[in-house]
Formats: sequence, C-alpha cells, structure tokens
Amino acid sequence: MTNPTVIKLQDGNVMPQLGLGVWQASNEEVVSAIHKALEVGYRSIDTAAAYKNEDGVGKALADAALPRDELFITTKLWNDDQQRPHQALQDSLEKLQLDYVDLYLMHWPVPGKNHYVEAWKGMIELQKQGLAKSIGVCNFQVNHLQRLIDETGVTPVINQIELHPLMQQRQLHAWNATHKIQTESWSPLAQGGAGVFDQQVIRKLAEKYAKTPAQIVIRWHLDSGLVVIPKSVTASRIAENFAVWDFRLDKEELGEIAKLDQGKRLGPDPDTFGS
Ligand code: NDP
Repeated sequence: MTNPTVIKLQDGNVMPQLGLGVWQASNEEVVSAIHKALEVGYRSIDTAAAYKNEDGVGKALADAALPRDELFITTKLWNDDQQRPHQALQDSLEKLQLDYVDLYLMHWPVPGKNHYVEAWKGMIELQKQGLAKSIGVCNFQVNHLQRLIDETGVTPVINQIELHPLMQQRQLHAWNATHKIQTESWSPLAQGGAGVFDQQVIRKLAEKYAKTPAQIVIRWHLDSGLVVIPKSVTASRIAENFAVWDFRLDKEELGEIAKLDQGKRLGPDPDTFGS
C-alpha cells in the first residue's frame, strides 16, 4: 500500500505525510530498514549528510529500483557546509545515487556564525538548477525565518523541528502555518522512551483503538496536520509505525494529548547550537 496521505507544499510539490527517519542508523542498518519500509508502503525517507548513512540509503534505493517519481527523498545541508551548499549537495547526491533530492533542508540556523542567509541563497540556486525539487529548513525560530523571507523573498516550504507530545511547539507551528510553511516533526516519538508511551492518556487511547502507544502518537501528529518521520531500524516497529491509516483521533482526544505539553526539549537549543 502506498502512503495514503500526502501534503501539498507551498511550491506545489507533494510530500507523503508519514516517512521514515534514519538518524543514528548505520549504513548497514538503513539498508534493511529501508527495504522493510518500502515493502510496507513508506515512500519518504529522511536522512542528512551528518547522519553518515547516505551511502546506505543510496544502496537500499538502488536495490529497490522503484520509479524515481514514487519516492520522496530528503537530505540536509550540514552546518560546516553553509558556505558551500552546491558542493555539499553534489556529495550527498553521489552517495544517494540520485540526480536530485525531493527536499533539501538546512539542518540548523547556527545564528552565531551568521551564514544562514547566504546558505539559503545557495539553496535557492540549487532548486533553480533542479538538484532539489523543494527547499526548506530545520530548527528555525521565527526571527530566523523572518530574516530569510525579508532578505531573499523565498519562504522555506518546510520547517522541521523537534515536536512531540511533551514539546508541542504550538506557537511556532501556528506561525509556520500562517506563512504556509509546513511543520515537520522530528523525534516525533520523543525518541521512543517511556516519557510519552507511559502517559495515561496515551495508554487509554491505545486500549480504546487497539493500537500501540507509538501508533497513537503518530496518529496525533497526522491529525494535527504535521509531517512525521518516526525512526526505527526494527522491522516489526517499521511496520507498526505505518499501520495507522484505519483510525483517527477526534477533537476531544487531541485536546487531551495537548495537555501533555511540558515545553521539554530533548535536543539542542536552535538559538545556540553549533555556534
Ligand atoms: P523518534 O522519536 O523517531 O524515536 C526513535 C526511537 O524510538 C528509536 O530508538 C526507535 O528504536 C524507537 N521506536 C521506533 N518505533 C517504535 C515503536 N513503535 N515502539 C517503541 N519504540 C519505537 O526519534 P528520532 O530522534 O530518531 O527522530 C526521528 C527522525 O527525525 C530522525 O531519525 C531524523 O530523520 C529526524 N531528526 C531530525 C533532526 C533535525 O535536526 N532536523 C534532529 C533529530 C531527528 P529502534 O530504531 O531500535 O526500533
């Protein structure tokens, strides 16, 4: 089954709402994970130069030999490469064995170095050259986004940020939405720990729908209008995380999960990271 839900981005391209994340997976692990993911219906893969597994992603995609236009491949420009985006993307494409990526994201703003506007201008050129079909950012706060828009006139189509029930980022999500920037959730399962899965409301809904806590959390992202990329290298979990199309959470249930927000970051602070 192909991914039944797609999101239309501001530039007119479409993206699966649910994909596979591959951070902290080795080249070897991503090959088997992607084989399994494609078998159960995923078509979107989220990697990054910094994950050091683009070779494995490329190998898995070459093995699968699916039509290129059925896949949606994301990679990211690493912080040290903000002054050489063209070379960085060429290096990624070579490893991925692709002619273009569907989405190229700037990984962090690194505001202390003040290169992100220059990097964004380079990414705009990469899109014009057809090497990236869509371009966006990760971990951008409102002031960083506003600067990109003011200084280049080009709005990122995606802002990929840490977002899960314990860190819901409602203000940034709303700001993104008013600028037609699609919000994408990283660490959507709060990295799989008991912190989210053991919450009473998650357990109660899992029982009600005969689903696992992870499936409830993924459904919460989907029903909140977010793009979501849970990571797993475990075959059974890869399948489990994609088996979420046969139920929906209602408004009241979404409201109950909203109460879990603690504004608690698991990852670094984007205002200082990398500086
Ligand atoms: P997730 O919230 O997706 O959690 C992944 C962890 O949860 C892994 O340990 C995994 O274990 C476990 N897990 C997965 N499915 C289940 C399940 N059904 N039941 C129980 N445990 C489960 O964390 P990530 O931080 O990996 O975030 C997802 C993706 O977001 C990344 O892989 C990456 O692509 C992206 N990301 C982007 C960042 C950015 O700065 N732009 C930063 C961080 C992440 P196992 O693999 O062993 O099955």
